[in-house]
Amino acid sequence: MIYDAAIIGTGPAGISAALNLKIHEKNFIWLGSRQLSEKISKAERISNYPGFFSVTGKELTDAFTQQISQMQIEITESMVNSVLPFDGHYALMAGENFYEAQTVILATGTAFTAALQQETDWLGKGVSYCATCDGGLYRDKTIAVICGNARFEHEARYLAELAKTVYFFPEYPNASDLSENTIKPSQKPAAVEGEQRVTGLRLKDGTLLPVDGVFCLRDSVTLSALLPNLQMQENHIAVDRRMATNLAGCFAAGDCTGRPYQYTKSVGEGNVAAHSAIEYLASL
Ligand SMILES: Cc1cc2nc3c(=O)[nH]c(=O)nc-3n(C[C@H](O)[C@H](O)[C@H](O)COP(=O)(O)OP(=O)(O)OC[C@H]3O[C@@H](n4cnc5c(N)ncnc54)[C@H](O)[C@@H]3O)c2cc1C
Repeated sequence: MIYDAAIIGTGPAGISAALNLKIHEKNFIWLGSRQLSEKISKAERISNYPGFFSVTGKELTDAFTQQISQMQIEITESMVNSVLPFDGHYALMAGENFYEAQTVILATGTAFTAALQQETDWLGKGVSYCATCDGGLYRDKTIAVICGNARFEHEARYLAELAKTVYFFPEYPNASDLSENTIKPSQKPAAVEGEQRVTGLRLKDGTLLPVDGVFCLRDSVTLSALLPNLQMQENHIAVDRRMATNLAGCFAAGDCTGRPYQYTKSVGEGNVAAHSAIEYLASL
């Protein structure tokens, strides 16, 4: 099945796009987290969201969740690893699943953590964003796993079951030890190094760990890795007033298009992106 649209990201921009596509009865898939966005739930008090003065992030999350549920909108719990133009539409890879859509709305926010140096240079040559897709390639090998969120710890544990040795870099407090073959270095990772493919991970203090692969399990994927040929402007996706990117049928909304990083800007852009996607679909 080819969906009318695929929305990537469940923050305010993605939520707004989803509400509008639903109202217009489009057949769309919405990929992200059912817990929505940590940038909403972790906010202490929000004073600039019209109609919700001094609301907590948790209260706003609950209000969004209730609206999504009442409108019977589904979220497919998944991290999208790549988007590729394919035969006049788009193909999306999310873990081991594959989806097709006529239009794509990128609502991925901005990443909390910066990518490692040279990370994207070694993508597909030892750097992976997907334990399920690529874990099997590292059976009995030595790997590094950078885990950006406790939500992905089960994927790190799965990798530890396959690999001989795992250097584990959790980026959150109170992480578990995973398994006996896991080492937790005290230094943070800095850069991926390689020759034909990945050969090591350089740490902040200069130490080089020899590894066969590096798994980056984070809340977001670097945009240049997610969708090659996407035109960027100062580290954000370049869009016009219709939230259209340089790629036909691909729109973007929210923090990923630039500052100010605000809920209402994201919601507004999600709305515009959905309407532009609807217009684009009508023109096909
Ligand atoms: C602590 C805190 C307090 C804040 N307070 C305020 C405030 O008071 N007022 C205000 O206006 N703004 C505030 N902000 C800013 C606001 O949170 C952001 O501007 C807003 O959340 C951006 O919405 P977004 O939808 O663009 O992205 P996000 O909210 O970042 O959501 C993007 C979502 O997409 C997901 N995602 C990314 N890549 C992928 C992928 N490849 N596949 C699937 N899912 C993916 C992410 O995991 C995330 O859930 C605050 C931010 C923080 C961190």
